[in-house]
Amino acid sequence: IFLPHLVASMEVEESYIMIKPDGVQRGLVGEIISRFEKKGFKLKGLKLFECPKELAEVCFLSTGFRNFGYSVHVEIEDCVVLKRALQGSELQAFLSQLISYITSGPVVCMAWEGVGVVASARKLIGATNPLQAEPGTIRGDLAVQTGRNVVHGSDSPENGKREIALWFKEGELTDWTPVQAPWLIE
Ligand code: GDP
Ligand code: MG
Repeated sequence: IFLPHLVASMEVEESYIMIKPDGVQRGLVGEIISRFEKKGFKLKGLKLFECPKELAEVCFLSTGFRNFGYSVHVEIEDCVVLKRALQGSELQAFLSQLISYITSGPVVCMAWEGVGVVASARKLIGATNPLQAEPGTIRGDLAVQTGRNVVHGSDSPENGKREIALWFKEGELTDWTPVQAPWLIE
């Protein structure tokens, strides 16, 4: 049966996916990209990039940038490191650790588009703590520690757009129609 309301709720979205320095150093770039490719999402932007300290600071320190932001970290309750870190200078130390991590080597920046791509990418990536991530997910299969969890994925369609705008310049994104499109979406 045809359920138009279900079809209508499946929005085309964009997600910012980033292979973190540990993923690049460990030679996991092809493996990670292929999971999104095989799923059927469309790659719109891709680059190897050395994140400048200033950009890392924007990502981690700005409360407006929820994905890497302070506001998200405040919400995490089961993390001893973060509870301690939230007190003043310890928070600063924690954030500067995150900044060092993300600027410690090249990252791979990607913009992926598709129906429901934001939530689906987070499922493909798995839980923040790789030991809690399900087997079959990227973190579940390929990582062991939260501080080295190999990949980032946007947590909402709004943040997907915002992060793509932050990490890519105009002209670095390409719109195209994959030949497989009609074989993926009815
Ligand atoms: P994500 O959306 O699953 O990536 O998780 P969050 O948005 O909560 O956190 C962003 C990133 O900060 C994580 O992917 C980790 O790289 C890092 N992070 C979060 N919590 C911790 C922690 O307790 N320890 C360390 N070392 N890094 C953390
Ligand atoms: Mg996040």
